[in-house]
Amino acid sequence: MNSYLTRLKEGSLKLYALDALVSPKEAVTIRRRYIEEETGVQMPHTGMVSIPLEDVVRKNCENMIGAVQVPLGVAGPVLMHGEYAKGSFFLPLATTEGALVASVNRGCSAISKAGGADVRIFADCMTRAPVFATRSVIHAREMVDWIADHKNEIADAAQQTTRHGKVTDIETYHAGTSVYVRLCFSTGDAMGMNMVTIASEKAAEVISLKTGARLISLSGNVCTDKKPAAINMILGRGRSVSAGVSLSEQQVMDIFKTDSKAMIEVSIRKNLVGSARAGSLGFNAHAANIIAAMFIACGQDPAHVVEGSLCITTIDPTDDGIYASVTLPALPVGTVGGGTRLGTQAECLSMLGVAGGGDPPGSHAKKLAEIVATGVLAGELSLIGAQAAQHLARAHQELGR
Ligand code: NAP
Repeated sequence: MNSYLTRLKEGSLKLYALDALVSPKEAVTIRRRYIEEETGVQMPHTGMVSIPLEDVVRKNCENMIGAVQVPLGVAGPVLMHGEYAKGSFFLPLATTEGALVASVNRGCSAISKAGGADVRIFADCMTRAPVFATRSVIHAREMVDWIADHKNEIADAAQQTTRHGKVTDIETYHAGTSVYVRLCFSTGDAMGMNMVTIASEKAAEVISLKTGARLISLSGNVCTDKKPAAINMILGRGRSVSAGVSLSEQQVMDIFKTDSKAMIEVSIRKNLVGSARAGSLGFNAHAANIIAAMFIACGQDPAHVVEGSLCITTIDPTDDGIYASVTLPALPVGTVGGGTRLGTQAECLSMLGVAGGGDPPGSHAKKLAEIVATGVLAGELSLIGAQAAQHLARAHQELGR
């Protein structure tokens, strides 16, 4: 340990090089000790790690020094009637936001008392959009025409690299001499970003070879990965999923201490008109809160909360109460790959019955998407209910302070 520390301090050994010299556990300990000495900050909590490190240091985190512990709460059980998620589930939420779990829990209870949430997947499409440079707008048009006529050839090239990734669509967009080819894939149980990036490279090689266009970047930002984008709102990205529930007037009054009229007015004036006035791409109350907490708990890529937050929440009047719904056009989720294999994250996925690959492939990821959507519905109902009843500040004062 001491000789490594000395070499790190001298600069003759790089932090990342430790992985090749000692076991993952020792590398993490030596690096942390070095950082403690350099910064003068002791990190005993950061050092408490129980997840198996071999895979983590190879696949998930470079220069690892420990782990940040995020409190994990559960909301539910919540009853849902999805095509994949059927029955009652406890929702794992990793968060430091006081009042969040309590709020989602109240929404879960409302949904279950109302007979459960309807949930459906509408689309399954992970995207990558390489950008190509052409010589002129005439060349750009020729390239776009060639792609339209050769979709099968492009798809065959892309699908060589993956068993589960299947090309479902190929769209083109252009601006002057730049052409963007948005490749859409179904990705089985993977969220699919690595899978479709690798496959898109093969597709891009064929396109470049056959059209003479120069590949500039495998990601041309029309994908659009991890940036707020109307294209994801309109066309979808990852799993597109909706959840809804019918609540009677009595249930609204008993659970939320308000009435249907007030909830509908909050939904319209806040979620719809307020979001439009602000130019927001999220027409919802706080979908990102639930998505972030469930993504962290379940080993999803937390940066995809950006796409996930493109949620539209609606509340329709019914003969005796309301029908509330959430629509998430772009929810990138997976149950294999990425952070899903880590010990704690895999335990959360197992709680939901979706750890690893599903039978048939894709069924676990779709089930997870339905469960997250139901969690979002619970969170939306609870917050809109609190705002309609003017309870928001009080709840935060009691639970968050
Ligand atoms: P991945 O682990 O790279 O790919 C999934 C792997 O699981 C594939 O090798 C696939 O094999 C295999 N697999 C086995 N059973 C499967 C099943 N039932 N369904 C689907 N695949 C199955 O994971 P990924 O989801 O593509 O990528 C996730 C990672 O990408 C995350 O860590 C995320 O942070 C990162 N990411 C990458 C980019 C990028 O541009 N590269 C961008 C954003 C995020 P086959 O391919 O042979 O089917």
